Amino acid sequence: AKQHGRNNYQWYTEHLNQEVSERMTLRNELQKAIAGMSFELHYQPQIDTRSGLVIGSEALLRWPHAERGMISPLRFIPVAEDTGQIIPISQWVLDTACRHNRQLLDRGLARGAISVNISAVHFLRSNFIETVRRALDSSGLPANLLELEITESVLLKNAERAIYLLHELKKIGVGLALDDFGTGYSSLSYLKDLPIDKVKIDRSFVQELISDPRDAAITQGIISMAHHLDLKVVAEGVETPEQAAFLERNQCDAFQGFLYARPMPFAELEGYLQRQAAL
Ligand code: C2E
Ligand code: CA
Ligand code: CA
Ligand code: CA
Repeated sequence: AKQHGRNNYQWYTEHLNQEVSERMTLRNELQKAIAGMSFELHYQPQIDTRSGLVIGSEALLRWPHAERGMISPLRFIPVAEDTGQIIPISQWVLDTACRHNRQLLDRGLARGAISVNISAVHFLRSNFIETVRRALDSSGLPANLLELEITESVLLKNAERAIYLLHELKKIGVGLALDDFGTGYSSLSYLKDLPIDKVKIDRSFVQELISDPRDAAITQGIISMAHHLDLKVVAEGVETPEQAAFLERNQCDAFQGFLYARPMPFAELEGYLQRQAAL
């Protein structure tokens, strides 16, 4: 048993070391990427359930790496959050998304807000509100054409401050969405105190909507509760016509997913919106 224990320990430390060194490497490479701001934003349209028209797009961060191809935000954002590197990156995302939607507006192609994912680390920083104001001012984007997506994690970290900040943002006029809804562990009672416009049903529920009655029940529950609270509901990760039909039957307001469109570079989004406008 002792021998076995030692082997386990050895296995554990080796893997831990690997993980630590992988994180160190990412951290160093992120530093270079930040210096040259070699990130991209891709956009995924959101489609109104009834009309089939685009009602907005979500900005999704991409890091094209010379040797390793695209590195997933799921891999590098947690590292960037730990090191604080998320701040300059998130700042760039906010500025770029605002500038892009202003360009669309100038060409008559803006279809609703661009949504930006905001990390709790950035959101809870002292000057976040000022950051949002500056992004709007310098791009000339009307506040209602920007939406911020936050997760329940901001409430777990500091609920009182988060609620205060959301009210301040509401005063500015930006849209507010609660992202990954249903995946956190916090209580539902806070929902009525949040000045948000929308909840986004996480892909993990949508994925098994048809095969797992429990996911169907949770999804129906989220939609019904959200509507009673006067919130819009967007489903993410819609991949099949069966999922879309279920969501439509249950009054989901909008869809986002590969069934309609994959995330695409800004230049492609312009073309996509141009074709939509011609319909
Ligand atoms: P999220 O906010 O839940 O974004 C939705 C993710 O689902 C995106 O992954 C999107 O590409 C993917 N997706 C959309 N439709 C489908 C579908 O039909 N099927 C499948 N399989 N996937 C679909 P992505 O772009 O890899 O982003 C992953 C996560 O990284 C995001 O999850 C978000 O939490 C985070 N993230 C992305 N960009 C940013 C950013 O600019 N700032 C911050 N803080 N986080 C970001
Ligand atoms: Ca999101
Ligand atoms: Ca999600
Ligand atoms: Ca399930």
